[in-house]
Amino acid sequence: MAAPPRKEVRPPLPRGPFLVVGLARSGQAAARMLARRGYQVRAVDSGHPEGAAGLKGAGVEVFLDTDGLAQLEGTHTVVKSPGVPREAAVIAAALEREIEVVGEMELAWRALPNRFIGVTGTNGKTTTVELLGHLYRSAGEPVTLAGNVGTALAGLLDEVDPEVTVVCECSSFQLEDTVAFAPECAVFLNLAPDHLDRHGDLTHYLAAKLRIFANQGNDDVAIYNADDPAVAGTDLGGCARRIAFCVGASPECEVALAEGTIFYDGEPLLPASELGLFGEHNVSNAMAAAAAALAMGINRDAVREGLRSFAGLPHRLEPVAEIDGVRFVNDSKATNVSSAAVGIRAFESGVHAILGGSEKDSSFDPLIEPLVERARACYLIGATTERMARELASVVAAGVELHRCADLEDAVRRAAKAAAPGEVVLLSPACASFDAFKNFEARGDRFREVVGELAR
Ligand code: ADP
Repeated sequence: MAAPPRKEVRPPLPRGPFLVVGLARSGQAAARMLARRGYQVRAVDSGHPEGAAGLKGAGVEVFLDTDGLAQLEGTHTVVKSPGVPREAAVIAAALEREIEVVGEMELAWRALPNRFIGVTGTNGKTTTVELLGHLYRSAGEPVTLAGNVGTALAGLLDEVDPEVTVVCECSSFQLEDTVAFAPECAVFLNLAPDHLDRHGDLTHYLAAKLRIFANQGNDDVAIYNADDPAVAGTDLGGCARRIAFCVGASPECEVALAEGTIFYDGEPLLPASELGLFGEHNVSNAMAAAAAALAMGINRDAVREGLRSFAGLPHRLEPVAEIDGVRFVNDSKATNVSSAAVGIRAFESGVHAILGGSEKDSSFDPLIEPLVERARACYLIGATTERMARELASVVAAGVELHRCADLEDAVRRAAKAAAPGEVVLLSPACASFDAFKNFEARGDRFREVVGELAR
């Protein structure tokens, strides 16, 4: 099958004057991009994010600490940042007045001439995007990564050569604000409850994610996870050629795992044991990335080599140290229940799991089975401690110890003391970190630091 050709024609940019709402990284990038193209741009934020005032120097009219309703007057198109909910007063008012509302990703995609690979899913986006970048680089093909983390897409404008492929992490918040966005290759990794505070329920969350396929044409490729009932059991939409991947053998999957080997299109690609990443969920991510790279025309040998040499990312099942035969693993990015469940399952047994953080109101039930199967003890930290202790009562009944800890340091020290050689101390919290840390990176860094002190 031929690789999808680059889309030569994109819809034009919407009409100005523009009002950019939300001035974190992507809002700032969008405002700069529009101002550079000579449009009249106003930009508002309900707070005063770092760097926002600096937009004035780029020719943007900036209004901080305001709801933006007054600035809507005279606006033709609103550019909404992913962090701003549709219910925000200014967005609701714009929609009511039938002012066009688009996201930064839509805007930048229209203006960029590059081929695109979009990656979405509840978990594994960053890993898969970074792995795809690594596969391209292994083949010596030009690539750049953008989206939810790292560089905002609008920041790439006038910076990258048209021949570069853009691999873009697409969050549900970015996808819900798309109109015509149609990447040449789109990847949907998995779906599990997350961000329901913003999307309301799983149906709306899924609908936002499916926007990644909605506008694709016949020449494009849609890659999806046939193991995930929420993804495989739904109408994906769009008209792209489908490529399914699955870890459980299924005859209709182009990318499958059989007897421990990853197959692509009926031919063996690589034994899973040779992957640089570990854990079954990462086999799934690797298959998705390999499928996308191969469908886009990257050479098989380079893909194989890249899959072997990619060792993963910080804060995602990151091996931190081994002290007296005990492994310490930082999975601080496991900010939801499903990612913590796969984190725990990545180890056979003897897991000392550090769990808890700020509330997202998700049920902890999916942790019960992996903990009963693989854990020796749980160390609870943060705001969720009491709810978690209640919901994990059956884990205790099954013989797993449960300790309430003062903080992360206390948890690490107690787990390190209790763990026997061959066992694992795993920070895979199943919760966000905002009760005690700036973000998941700060939490993971603190874990590393405390482990470092143990080693001395
Ligand atoms: P995202 O960018 O979607 O948040 P990351 O690659 O940063 O994804 O990984 C987030 C967390 O999810 C990490 O704890 C990681 O180990 C876990 N994870 C990665 N891939 C998967 C997957 N396919 N299924 C479930 N959990 C995963």
